Amino acid sequence: MLCTAALVLALITACDSTDPPQRAATSPPATSATPTSPVTSPSTSPTPSRAAQQTFQARAAQRTVDFLAGQIGPREATSAAYRRAATWVEQRLAALGYDVERQQFRAPNGVSWGVPVGAGSTWNVVARPPSLREGEPYLIAGAHLDTVPQAPGAEDNASGVAVVLELARLVAAGDSRLPVVFVAFGAEEPRGPGDDDHHFGSTAMVSRLSAAERQSLRGMVSLDRVGVGRVVPICTGGRGPTDVQRELVQAARRVDVPSRACNDNRASDHWSFEKAGLPAARLGSTPYAAYHSTRDRPAVVNPAQLRRSGTVMWEWMSR
Ligand SMILES: [Zn+2]
Repeated sequence: MLCTAALVLALITACDSTDPPQRAATSPPATSATPTSPVTSPSTSPTPSRAAQQTFQARAAQRTVDFLAGQIGPREATSAAYRRAATWVEQRLAALGYDVERQQFRAPNGVSWGVPVGAGSTWNVVARPPSLREGEPYLIAGAHLDTVPQAPGAEDNASGVAVVLELARLVAAGDSRLPVVFVAFGAEEPRGPGDDDHHFGSTAMVSRLSAAERQSLRGMVSLDRVGVGRVVPICTGGRGPTDVQRELVQAARRVDVPSRACNDNRASDHWSFEKAGLPAARLGSTPYAAYHSTRDRPAVVNPAQLRRSGTVMWEWMSR
């Protein structure tokens, strides 16, 4: 009996220290009328009434920001904190029914935003719908999970990961126009000054795409800093095709979200895809004072902007 009590206490303590307040993956918000039957496959077809419930939950996204930036904190790509965050994201995506792969690669040593960092192993979390076949048209929605060493990374980029997880829930529970592969990228942040000194996770992913996977990719979006401001930036690096950017701008118009297009943004994971000639764009990048600092805490992120970004993405994916 004592033993059982101790075990229960240990479990409660462990949950307190490692889990967010609520796991949206398994516990839909109380306000939602989502049926209680568990969702096991992203390819599950919705009934119309269920589809009507398919809206972006900004509060669920904000809870992810609170957990990643408020509880875990700085997540440099080779750190124990990054591994903890990535494991948590894996569990969230697996619980939604995705096939989750740990895509390992090496991040080199260097200097990240003024702080020396060592070389080490890290990984992307890649979640595929189980029904996706190679050569079938698909989309990628990704967000980098790592931070510079000194920043808790609420806006940069727990915001992007939070929106990606909420989109993964929507796609798993409903219908998207194409299958979507969701990615939490490792080692996006710079480890030196050059164009080859950042975006290591997305570079690794692009290098491992088969010819058929490149051919059938219909669009990749990097969600990076999507919780600050009132207007949603929709950008490319100015080299690749602009189809995805155009589609996102049109989606924003349809859902009445103010957006602004730019074609000079090479500072996120879309650039790895664009350099390879693949259709890609970046959502987000509004400047803010706490950028790459210890002040990039959850309060910086505005749930209303998470909602705007998420609503544009969901419109792009579902229509
Ligand atoms: Zn970033």
